[in-house]
Amino acid sequence: MQALPGSRAENRTDMRMPLAKTRPLYYCKGMASVPDVSVPAHVVNRIHHKFWTYLLFWSVVGGSLLVVPGFGILYGYSWLDWTMFAILYVVSGLGITVGYHRLLTHRSFECPDWVKGALLVAGGWALQNSGPKWAADHLRHHAHCDEAADPYNARRGFWYSHCGWLLDPIPCTDDRFGSRVMQDRVAMWQHRHYVAIVLTGLALPFLVGFLYGGWMSGVSCFLLAGVGRTFAVLNSTFCINSVCHLWGAQPYGTRDSSRDSWVVSLLTFGEGYHNYHHTYPSDYRNGPLWYNFDPSKWLIYALYTVGLASSLKTASQAQS
Ligand SMILES: [Zn+2]
Ligand SMILES: [Zn+2]
Repeated sequence: MQALPGSRAENRTDMRMPLAKTRPLYYCKGMASVPDVSVPAHVVNRIHHKFWTYLLFWSVVGGSLLVVPGFGILYGYSWLDWTMFAILYVVSGLGITVGYHRLLTHRSFECPDWVKGALLVAGGWALQNSGPKWAADHLRHHAHCDEAADPYNARRGFWYSHCGWLLDPIPCTDDRFGSRVMQDRVAMWQHRHYVAIVLTGLALPFLVGFLYGGWMSGVSCFLLAGVGRTFAVLNSTFCINSVCHLWGAQPYGTRDSSRDSWVVSLLTFGEGYHNYHHTYPSDYRNGPLWYNFDPSKWLIYALYTVGLASSLKTASQAQS
């Protein structure tokens, strides 16, 4: 039906970026029945605050590549700094892979609200935007993979899909990608408190270091386990969008550019089996074989065995 000139419907249509060929959202049947709720624009739209985006981006890059190694050369890092680095790398990394990705975005399992809340706080510590925004972007990536509307379109080259897309976001006002997540009250709680969550993730290593050895120890732990660890987790996630769409095997199909890379899985808690994941997005496993290195599926299964996760989806149910 043609929208009336000047009507709200027409304005909405005009605002939309012309999307490339739209695929049905077959990968998540639940989305087909999402009611037409109004989704706050600041969640679904990719609004580019150029100044803050550039400031944050270059602060993280400069801090990680100059200040963190410089401090290490001058003063050295302690065993506590490295231990906190490792712990927070695992916690915030699994927060992204299990919390943001497999739970919130693909609903590959269910869990109590407090478990979901804990996973989303851990994911927030990785400085990758709030859970609902991350999920909206990622659902659009699956729906428009390799097309103009793909937020990290690998056809635009390695650096664009790795991190350049952060500085040049594709505007999107397609409500479908955020509306389902927007109805999750735990996810929206995390969205409202996202900045505070990020700050606690940076304050924690400082506090641990400070309690252990005073101000200098606090700064040391903050730099390595706060700034350096955030940079490491960010880049491990970015490798999924860049490396796993450029290099690797495609044993499950060539419908899009996704590829399997066991090497990337070592850094990303199993997310490197990306060709399988694009084929069966709702499977709680990304590496389906017993010998695939996929700590994220092990954590989900461990939660299941102690009664803290249920309804684990596998490939045979993955289209649901
Ligand atoms: Zn992908
Ligand atoms: Zn995915």
